[in-house]
Amino acid sequence: MAKIAINIATGSLQQNEMIVGIDLGTTNSLIAIIHPENKKPVALKEHDSSSLVPSVIHFEKNGLITVGAEAKKYLVTDPANTIFSAKRLIGKTYNDVKNNTSSLAYTIINDDDKLAKVQVGTQFYTAVDLSALILKELKKTAEHILKTPVNKAVITVPAYFNDAQRQATRDAGKLAGLDVLRIINEPTAASLAYGFGLNKTEQKTIAVYDLGGGTFDISILTIANGIFEVLSTNGDTFLGGDDLDNAIVEHWINRYDYKDRADEKMHRQLLRLKAEEAKKHLSQNETFETPYEKDDLAISKEKFEEIIKPIIDKTIVCCTNALKDAGLAKNDIDEIIMVGGTTRIPFVKKAVSDFFGKAVNDTVDPDEVVALGAAIQADVLAGNTKDILLLDITPLSLGLETMGGLMDVLLPRNSKIPAKASRQYTTYKDGQRGMKIAVYQGERDMVKDNRRLAEFNLTGIPGMPAGLPKVEVSFLINADGILVVNAKELRSGIEQSIEVKPQYGLTDEDVEKMLMDSIHHAGEDIHARALIEAKTEAEQLLQTTEKFIQKNFEQLTQQEITATSGAMQALQLSLDMNDKDLIQAKTEELNAISRPYAERVMDDAIQKTLRGNKIGLQG
Ligand code: ADP
Ligand code: MG
Repeated sequence: MAKIAINIATGSLQQNEMIVGIDLGTTNSLIAIIHPENKKPVALKEHDSSSLVPSVIHFEKNGLITVGAEAKKYLVTDPANTIFSAKRLIGKTYNDVKNNTSSLAYTIINDDDKLAKVQVGTQFYTAVDLSALILKELKKTAEHILKTPVNKAVITVPAYFNDAQRQATRDAGKLAGLDVLRIINEPTAASLAYGFGLNKTEQKTIAVYDLGGGTFDISILTIANGIFEVLSTNGDTFLGGDDLDNAIVEHWINRYDYKDRADEKMHRQLLRLKAEEAKKHLSQNETFETPYEKDDLAISKEKFEEIIKPIIDKTIVCCTNALKDAGLAKNDIDEIIMVGGTTRIPFVKKAVSDFFGKAVNDTVDPDEVVALGAAIQADVLAGNTKDILLLDITPLSLGLETMGGLMDVLLPRNSKIPAKASRQYTTYKDGQRGMKIAVYQGERDMVKDNRRLAEFNLTGIPGMPAGLPKVEVSFLINADGILVVNAKELRSGIEQSIEVKPQYGLTDEDVEKMLMDSIHHAGEDIHARALIEAKTEAEQLLQTTEKFIQKNFEQLTQQEITATSGAMQALQLSLDMNDKDLIQAKTEELNAISRPYAERVMDDAIQKTLRGNKIGLQG
């Protein structure tokens, strides 16, 4: 797709409704629109400058904030006040990121499981604040170029971003004065930019290989009937162009004997910039040479490829895993799309096309392809292009905490979104007025092993006997992947809902770890669940039996009462011993004793209460 220059002088871009597409990247960000005349997507840029805005923010002592290429210069001269890669912190707590801060020159304050904050001077900034500063800069630049206000946007995020991270990205947009109409996945946007999915009859399976500055993502998507679906994602959140720069620096440090010198650290800093220059140069040339101190630094393309091979090999391992997760073979892939600045390296393209056994798609600028796709989606939302629907999946199961701390899954992992599910619950105690609705994410049977996303109390339930209220809880993930939980007591109509106030912090590695954990702990989880279910059932039986006896005392014989009280004591004892089999046996014994007289006296409604195994939520 050719780049299109925008002619500002004609003023032809004046539109009432300008919806822009934004790629908010770890290393670089940019903004794109659909050209109002030729209807093609185009990245916005000021005259001769690049469309890429480095995702770097510099804070000056006097309060002046600079964003982009200007700020990038301070990475060397004022690293403590220059923030880069803020996207890595989105939706993360200090505990999530503390092991990966060694390469950062700025300070992340130690605040355990609170949202990670960066300290600059006496000020603190969250990832949302920092992302908002970048978005504000993009908005300002776009308004300057387009000569029209820009208030609405589609923003892209990695496919593995969880609800919290998507919400944080939205919040950043809002803070920057942008109405974020849709959050879409980066690989989906890239596919759109290649025109895939625009034709309704098209069916394709696409691999999107995205190697950026600090991250690598591989996503497998399918398109059918204009619907996109993410089949799997894989990658490494600490692998990208920066590692290639470091590999060159390492090579030079050794080759030119800077190692173990007093000024080694300073040289490393200075050589990094030279290394990035070398890397880019070698994407088009056979050798690179540059004067440096008294030496001339040099590196050949051959040497470069030799030292980066181990890094590129790692990305290929991720591709293998992504295919496996999607349940596909290499030759099921119809298209391979190259995304991210680092895919300009011929060696990378070759490695990928060798792996898949097919030529790669690299005709759209890999730096711009995601933003261009976001612009296409923005155009769809503006009502200009119809028939495209973007469909994604939930990476982890979503559910509620039920009695005994068990996870009750409403939306299983890999559910297609938008998605909706609901289930009815009832109270556990007589006269219970409130019900705790605790929302969890994960694959384990016990909620304590999963991630808590949100919690609220449905209050004001009218006093009723246990088991009578009907509380319907529904989960709705909208097209942006944001979860809305609603709880409604159906008899009284009282209702409460939340936009999930998530406890932030989840990476693709976390997702993988949670999946692995659920496999490793499957045995003990089944055991724990069985014990809790047995206990809950026993406790419920004890309660209802006691209630029943109190209520129907007159209709029972002395013998029945004595036998029941003995069986109840035995059951209580087995509960204290935490022995599942014993609990089940004693539950059965108590049932056997109470069943005959219960049947004798109870009316239908009470029968339901006594036998029903419906598990209530905790009060
Ligand atoms: P992100 O999506 O993480 O923000 P980008 O897609 O913008 O990142 O990629 C930035 C990376 O691409 C940087 O490491 C940069 O050095 C690298 N890069 C840009 N152009 C080239 C090139 N011609 N050859 C090799 N690497 C390049
Ligand atoms: Mg990117």
